Amino acid sequence: MIIQLKNGKLYDPAHGVDGVVRDLYIRDGRIVAQPNSNEKIDQVFDLSGKIVMAGAIDMHSHIGGGKVNIARMMLPEFQIKEYQETRQYTEPEAHICTPSCSHDAVPNTNQTGFRYIEMGYTAAFEPAILPINARQAHLEMGDTPMIDKGGYAMLGNDDYFLRLLSSKAEQKVINDYVAWTLHATQAIGIKVVNPGGISAFKFNQRRLDLDENHSFYQVSPREILKSLSTAVHQLGIAKPLHVHCNNLGAAGNFQTTLDTMGASEGVPMHLTHIQFHSYGAEGDKKFSSAAAQISEALNKHQHITADVGQILFGQTVTASGDSMMQQLNAQYANPKKSVIMDIECDAGCGVVPFKYRDQNYVNALQWAIGLEIFLSVEDPWRIFLTTDHPNGAPFTSYPHLIRLLMDKSFRNEAFAKLNLDAQAMSNLTSLDREYSLYEIAVMTRAGAAKLIGLNDRGHLGAGAAADITIYTDQPDREAMFAKPDYVFKDGELVVRDCKVVKVVWGKTHTAKPAFDIGVEQGLKAYFNQYHTIQLDNFKISNDEIADDGRGGIIIHST
Ligand SMILES: [Zn+2]
Repeated sequence: MIIQLKNGKLYDPAHGVDGVVRDLYIRDGRIVAQPNSNEKIDQVFDLSGKIVMAGAIDMHSHIGGGKVNIARMMLPEFQIKEYQETRQYTEPEAHICTPSCSHDAVPNTNQTGFRYIEMGYTAAFEPAILPINARQAHLEMGDTPMIDKGGYAMLGNDDYFLRLLSSKAEQKVINDYVAWTLHATQAIGIKVVNPGGISAFKFNQRRLDLDENHSFYQVSPREILKSLSTAVHQLGIAKPLHVHCNNLGAAGNFQTTLDTMGASEGVPMHLTHIQFHSYGAEGDKKFSSAAAQISEALNKHQHITADVGQILFGQTVTASGDSMMQQLNAQYANPKKSVIMDIECDAGCGVVPFKYRDQNYVNALQWAIGLEIFLSVEDPWRIFLTTDHPNGAPFTSYPHLIRLLMDKSFRNEAFAKLNLDAQAMSNLTSLDREYSLYEIAVMTRAGAAKLIGLNDRGHLGAGAAADITIYTDQPDREAMFAKPDYVFKDGELVVRDCKVVKVVWGKTHTAKPAFDIGVEQGLKAYFNQYHTIQLDNFKISNDEIADDGRGGIIIHST
């Protein structure tokens, strides 16, 4: 079976293709070179006047694992409308996107998959898998239809690692533990949240700065970052260490963020939701934008990548592994409820519902700071489009965010409605940049695939998986990106006119670097002494990811 996509205008940054009209061919789920003239074309789509990109990849979105489910349980009022809509999906053909579609902060698994694919996203990566809770995370992701999944396993606040570091274990031992964790949790990357801080919180420290020591282990966040980023690098894992810096959300935290960029000593690191880490402490309200300093540093440090974590106004829920900072944020909960929890004394999270308001000084400035960073970072290959779903806003608001980046007058109109004090503290209207379609394709496709190490995704070259999204070119970029005409997943037409026409299940992307299995000796003894679960039950087998024809694993070479 050969499908021809005819006369579409291609944006394929991995191959430098910027708006070139060209045909694509699909065979057996892959993009292939033009077939011989004697081969039969089974189906032709005329894409004249349409825009063709690879399926979009969300490199940071909380779609699985304990936090999201806690948020779902804690906020049943968000779910009622969703449940009514989900029922329509028993007959997928019956669902038509309407303006009344909920843009809820905590969609259930079904909604997550359908909403992503309807926007042309074909993969999303859960950035905070607690190793102890990885099975739950994979069960949720496995129940999310339509898209590919993957996750980053959290290390750096776990007792085992902190013991290794404080006892000055060799880097090789750390590397083996990191690799073992990737295998055991079926993850594709490693994340550290508030390095050392989440653990320090349990020893009654309420802040931990980059060069401050954890009171019990006597190690600093800087040492943790050095050790983990080196391990990821030496193991050959494509995805650089994913770093949620210390001092999330605190006024004046930009200095910590700048210092963190130097902590890996030139080894690649990714700083996530950097908007939340770009705050100064200037002005009457002691809260200001440090987007200029952060962007300048990002432009300079080629080994650092970042995603923004843009906030957008409205109701959402924040869910973070950073229980230290979420405990501070709980006072701002809206509605007034929150959860701070911990598993096995080893990893935890905080879930706090929140409503961002454009008349609130801090919220309005947060909105502007995110956009200032987007517009000031020069290289779209090193900055990524995220809202840290659901922390800054639900992922369903991406089309709106894309329009803010691509349309200066739309952005300035929105800015003019903000809290006036916040307007006075932002230089946003002096930034004239408008993102091009090519740059959007870099940020949401080619760049994301390259960062995570998905060699056969995020591009339209021969051999790539046929994850393809087709839009009608419209001046209103929000309308355009909200409703693709067609989405192909692994070569199958799954969305037509913003309507799911076929349900598929996607796969789980993992990385499995080689390591010395001898590391299990120490781990086994540790599990027997301290954990309620045995080591063999902690590890997730390949069979657990594939179930009843759903799912399956893709292992990316390291
Ligand atoms: Zn996040």
